[in-house]
Amino acid sequence: YEAKRAGRRTWVVFDEAMHARLARSGPIQAALRVAIERGELSIDYQPIVDLETGRMSTVEALLRWTHPELGVLDPAEFIPIAEESGHIIVIGEWVLRQACAQWMRWQAQDAAAAPAGISVNLSRVQMALGSHLVTVVNDALESTGMPPEALQLEITERELMKDPGAARELLLALASLGARLALDDFGTGTSSLACLREHPFHSVKIDRSYVTGLSHDRHVLAVAHATVNVIENLGMVSVAEGVETQAELATLQALGCRFGQGRLFAPPLPPDRVLGALKV
Ligand code: C2E
Ligand code: MG
Ligand code: MG
Repeated sequence: YEAKRAGRRTWVVFDEAMHARLARSGPIQAALRVAIERGELSIDYQPIVDLETGRMSTVEALLRWTHPELGVLDPAEFIPIAEESGHIIVIGEWVLRQACAQWMRWQAQDAAAAPAGISVNLSRVQMALGSHLVTVVNDALESTGMPPEALQLEITERELMKDPGAARELLLALASLGARLALDDFGTGTSSLACLREHPFHSVKIDRSYVTGLSHDRHVLAVAHATVNVIENLGMVSVAEGVETQAELATLQALGCRFGQGRLFAPPLPPDRVLGALKV
């Protein structure tokens, strides 16, 4: 399973760290099954900022899990377990509905201060549902009354590349609902320029590894510069992930990157702290 997760056609050696992970994964899997009904899951929202104006444009929904004994769990640990066990299907649908409902509440509260849209991460396991996922997304939009263009769905580059052909049809169906699509963690996978052209992405999120070091490493700078140019020249919107310093922000602005997300602007926040989080 570890080899499969590492991208198949490879092998791995069983070691202590894997043993420790496996020993935790059983209890985590069992606890996940009841996490929703016990109210242990919540969603934080992180502002995505217009780099020209400094204003919040949209927000990304990020899942949080606080277990009574295990404490706050890292998504990097529990999301892969939820994917392996299939729990991510129910949880992902819950996130989608919650996020849409939350966006509608912000609109009702203060439309001028509310984010213009909301981004929700999709797992490859949800993508494998094919047309059922399209139904789930459509239901979430219809039942909450959220306008489709305010919803953005994020798919990571790695997951897209596992089966780009199959993904294309699904992405087209999701786009035809009116929802927007974003390619997440760009630069960490193996996609080609053709992949950017062939899929209906509205925006591309440049991975944090190309943002960290931007201000002092000329190789990172060269790649980030070229990446922003390709994204923008293809008519898509560039978003930088994990912006932490003023120096990174200044460089991104000089490169013409349009949006940014990171602790420099705001960390992921509980919903009641989002409006007015970025008063400029
Ligand atoms: P992601 O979609 O790339 O989300 C961005 C991650 O970067 C988040 O980690 C966020 O907290 C973190 N981050 C934001 N600003 C900064 C910064 O300035 N510096 C650094 N170092 N990190 C920053 P988080 O919340 O731990 O989530 C990790 C990943 O888990 C997400 O990466 C996403 O792939 C996945 N995930 C989170 N929520 C969901 C969900 O509802 N469904 C699915 N399928 N995956 C989710
Ligand atoms: Mg994301
Ligand atoms: Mg990302």
